[in-house]
Amino acid sequence: MEKHILSKSTFIKGMQCNKALYYHKHNRELRDELSATQEAIFAQGTSVGELAQELYPGGVDCSPESYYDFQAAVIKTQEEIEKGTTVIYEAAFQYNGVLAVLDILVKHKDGWRAYEVKSSTSVSEIYELDATIQYYTITNSGINLKDISIVHINNKYVKKGSIDVNKLFTIESVKERVLQLLPSIPNQVNHLKNILQQPEAPTRDIGPHCNSPYPCDFIGHCWKHVPAYSIFNIARLNAAKKFELYENNILHLKDIPEAFPLNDNQWMQVQSEVRNETFINKETIHTFIQDLNYPIYHLDFETFTSAVPIFDNSRPYQQLVFQYSLHIESKDGKVEHKEFLAETNGIDPRIHFIKSLIANCGNKGDILVYNISFERSKLFDLIEFSPKHKVPILKIINRLKDLMIPFRERWYYTPKMQGSYSIKKVLPALFPELTYQNLTIQDGGTASNTFANMLQGNFKGDIEQTKKDLLAYCALDTLAMVKILEKLKEIYK
Ligand code: SF4
Repeated sequence: MEKHILSKSTFIKGMQCNKALYYHKHNRELRDELSATQEAIFAQGTSVGELAQELYPGGVDCSPESYYDFQAAVIKTQEEIEKGTTVIYEAAFQYNGVLAVLDILVKHKDGWRAYEVKSSTSVSEIYELDATIQYYTITNSGINLKDISIVHINNKYVKKGSIDVNKLFTIESVKERVLQLLPSIPNQVNHLKNILQQPEAPTRDIGPHCNSPYPCDFIGHCWKHVPAYSIFNIARLNAAKKFELYENNILHLKDIPEAFPLNDNQWMQVQSEVRNETFINKETIHTFIQDLNYPIYHLDFETFTSAVPIFDNSRPYQQLVFQYSLHIESKDGKVEHKEFLAETNGIDPRIHFIKSLIANCGNKGDILVYNISFERSKLFDLIEFSPKHKVPILKIINRLKDLMIPFRERWYYTPKMQGSYSIKKVLPALFPELTYQNLTIQDGGTASNTFANMLQGNFKGDIEQTKKDLLAYCALDTLAMVKILEKLKEIYK
């Protein structure tokens, strides 16, 4: 059997962008490096796929021994079907140069049904297209499919004891939509095969398709003519307007025509950059500062998620708290630091987190967070988890105030913030010497993945050192808040 030309995933890639497909086959060296977060997403997808096999237990796995030998998997799948096997995992089919590897193929009483597993929580348009190329390949290989479904995570499922796969997963038939999309598939397959035979990559400029439906692997290459700070960084400007500017050869903020429709904050961002000017609304900052009650508790949470819930009384993808940092600032300027980091011994971190937080938050003074909706929603989750702690947690919620407001509302804006009010941009803009770049863990996504890996026993590094790195990262978040507030107070002085 000849090697396939397209696989299900390269077909999807080609439908997103012909050039991405061409590069993927002929210019792999141009590909971006995978981020730790992307690697964690892929690993999660694999473990969800394996768990979904338990929906139809006792099947035969037709995965190839080597990643490059899918044709052996196609032959093995055919042999299993001929033998009368009724449940096949990683069932491989090839037709017209297209390879499709299906997660689970089951022969029910009324015929064959195909199941494609996704670790997301709903069916999207791209999954329907994905199922269509599977259906095209499988049915043209001689299997009459009674139905084809997407198996996805049910985010309402609450774990109680062992995982109940029948409740964790939702099986949603997409056959109706597949039959609507099917007539266009042969032309699309031929078109993409032709693209791959061309001597050079197709010309396709950057556009909204670079991130939709998936972030492309070649952004680093195709976007290298776009400056690090450009019209694509204008806050809350929709993609259509950004690309309207781009198509008019406008990349720098200084080149935006005055008549271009931007809102007041967007114009402020542009003016600030063009004139290298800082905007400060002293009056509103003054009111904000005057309204604060000491001692001020600067608080920040870290959370992790998992597609398959690890602890009882938690849902798929629920953000579970595992760490906090607290800088307590008294009126005379003294600052004390407290922190919590959960153990990675398999014990649910939430009860220890709650007890530690209640003990360290005292009972008076404001609790300042950066983006109140995040910490508030996690605290409400903790009430749901432990109703007996409702009263003290509600007291904490009632003391919360948001340090992000002066920056989100542009009461304080410097060109170095580059349109962002994230603490990761605000801190170095105000204090260049205080940067996350000297830390081993530099962002919340890495902190979250690192902790989840340690918890699940998948972490390969030095656990004790990594715990110190996690503490250092979270501590900088709340130290940053102390410094930022100091800066706001200076303005008022
Ligand atoms: S970055 Fe955009 S233009 Fe370049 S290959 Fe990817 S999708 Fe196509």
